[in-house]
Amino acid sequence: MTHKVLIAGGAGYIGSHMVKDLLAHGYEVLVLDNLSKGHADAVPHDHLVIGDIGDRDLLETLFARHEIAAVMHFAAFIEVGESVREPEKYYRNNLANTLVLLDTMRRHGIARFIFSSTAAVYGTPERTPITEDHPRHPINPYGASKAMVEQVLGDFDSAYGLKSIILRYFNAAGADPDGELGERHDPETHLIPLVLDAAAGDREAIAIFGQDYDTPDGTCIRDYIHVADLCQAHRLALDALLQGGESAIYNLGNGRGFSVREVIDAAAAVTGRTIPCREAPRRPGDPPRLIADSAKAQRELGWRPEYADLATIIRHAWQFRQRRAGIEPGEAKAESAAA
Ligand code: UDP
Repeated sequence: MTHKVLIAGGAGYIGSHMVKDLLAHGYEVLVLDNLSKGHADAVPHDHLVIGDIGDRDLLETLFARHEIAAVMHFAAFIEVGESVREPEKYYRNNLANTLVLLDTMRRHGIARFIFSSTAAVYGTPERTPITEDHPRHPINPYGASKAMVEQVLGDFDSAYGLKSIILRYFNAAGADPDGELGERHDPETHLIPLVLDAAAGDREAIAIFGQDYDTPDGTCIRDYIHVADLCQAHRLALDALLQGGESAIYNLGNGRGFSVREVIDAAAAVTGRTIPCREAPRRPGDPPRLIADSAKAQRELGWRPEYADLATIIRHAWQFRQRRAGIEPGEAKAESAAA
């Protein structure tokens, strides 16, 4: 039997890769995206419904019209700094609108949910690598909004039997290995795409936020995970729920940390470009070191990351960037070739 999955936020960065992955694996997909951040051209046209997860009437119509086996939820705001300045926006969308989605699901008897959570629920960790039982002390409204939905999901399982798998991502990065999809945030705040902008000459320099952290080179350490590996984990989580599995929580990372300077060096090696850097103050809300222990996902879901290597993650992101700029891999940009 073919299962139909509603992908909320399926026109965004991770959601669009998920749509492609599920279609390639024989699932039916319906995307719900309000296009506030997503891109209509990132999903096949006939699968897209433009609308909001907080629109109860629209959800009622969709759930009445389609037999939805499970919902995957990628439709959240993700910028830590913005969440500090505009917490209302984060609690409204990430928490209140998610509650509308979950409540409408519940009343339509849709009882399987895959939730995009984040390492930000841990705040500044007491120890690394971080296991799922590490205490949660989010230090910004973004992380708090995700931790609150996690709480809601636990209670919805106890009271209504709604089964969920919570996936706590570390640093999602990279792009579709085929080069069709990639990261297109506006504004872009993530390290790897910004470093690649600097490599391409579209940004003067990359600012290194903080050089005096308690790490070997003084810059923050993160665990970068390829978007395709994230999608594989979601698909395995979906299968687990479709087979009657229980609610669960998994960390998703590669268990290896790279400092900001190491990422810049790796990007210079991949692109063959010089990457101008400048030292900048610490960014508020940045924990010094976030590294996942993902043994549980490997053990219980059978998750096997295919693209754990940082150079591969950066190469795929670069390939997508170059393709969008009209440059095929290996081809030099006309003006830089002439320079
Ligand atoms: N970072 C940086 N310069 C930038 C963007 C990010 O030094 O222009 C650092 C940031 O402080 C953090 C790491 O790169 O230590 C990863 O940041 P990103 O925003 O990509 O992901 P986050 O860890 O916040 O989810």
